[in-house]
Amino acid sequence: MPGVVGGAIYVPGFVSDGRPVAGPDEDAFTLAATAWEELASSAPPLPPARVVHLVGEFPRMVDWGFPALFGHPIDVVPHPSGRPGLAEALAQAEADPSEARPAVVLVAELPERADPASAPAFDLGAGAVALRFGAEGTLSSAERDLLVQGPDPVSGARAFLASRGVRPSLPAGRRALAPSSVRPFVEAPPTAVSEGAYVPRARYLENLGSRWRLVAERCGHCGTLTFPARGACRSCLAREGLSPYSLPRDGGTVVATTTIGPGGQPTEFDGQVAALGEYAVVLVELGPGVCLTLQVADAAPGELPIGAHVGTRLRRLYPMEGEWRYGRKAVPLGQRSEGASAGARGSHGAPTHAA
Ligand SMILES: [Zn+2]
Repeated sequence: MPGVVGGAIYVPGFVSDGRPVAGPDEDAFTLAATAWEELASSAPPLPPARVVHLVGEFPRMVDWGFPALFGHPIDVVPHPSGRPGLAEALAQAEADPSEARPAVVLVAELPERADPASAPAFDLGAGAVALRFGAEGTLSSAERDLLVQGPDPVSGARAFLASRGVRPSLPAGRRALAPSSVRPFVEAPPTAVSEGAYVPRARYLENLGSRWRLVAERCGHCGTLTFPARGACRSCLAREGLSPYSLPRDGGTVVATTTIGPGGQPTEFDGQVAALGEYAVVLVELGPGVCLTLQVADAAPGELPIGAHVGTRLRRLYPMEGEWRYGRKAVPLGQRSEGASAGARGSHGAPTHAA
């Protein structure tokens, strides 16, 4: 298939005035990261991309954030928001010399965070798109028109991917959210520093492979999984014969749950609790003997009981040292296909991919 060889759309699980809006712990980086993970987990394995084109208003940390998320060096090329940026990104992705391909184009839209007076009329609202280019070929002019001439890039990509049988990944249920109520939190300058839970930036960056990509180590001697990876087996203490082992992003089981009320939170979550109130924390078993403690997103306390199967998504955690820190949170497992058009594929839960 020429040009785009796979794609995915992520639509956040909140709604305001009938349009999807991002949750309070989502931003352009997490939206695009989620769309890319949807694509990576559903498409046939492809060689690592060499370039990622970003369309939207991304935080500065994407320069190292996307290489950390992809797990290998990758050139990060920014483009303006909206249709002009998408047209520019598509042109560059197609024009790359063959040795620089394949490329990934990631689009993130956060219209509810924009100034209402200047915000364009988005059909869809917040969302993100991941498009994977192959090593050769170009889009047809009809496909390019679909992509860049929709009312906004996410809607255009949705129409384009629908023409190839790909439907958006949708969260479990929709909950109302008034962006005005979370804006003071999400747009506050990330200057808060917690002395009690201070995590040095170097240590945060060092552990991203484990924390973001859920890479554990499997011991070649006794088979034990060690997570986070630490260069030694936690069972037999072997330091050799360890190999990377990717834990599943989705499908973990809740084995314990608790609710953190105001006053009970670690101080780095003070701003979140002040703005949004209590939150749930769950212990999730992701693999044999491997459990993670994760904050719950997109669900109220009590909505993910023991035994529930959950997914994990990259989200904002808390501000520290002038920037947001990111990590995984547990989310309800959503539909991987859209109800209205699921009949074409037969069932919910079908992976979204362009074969
Ligand atoms: Zn071992």
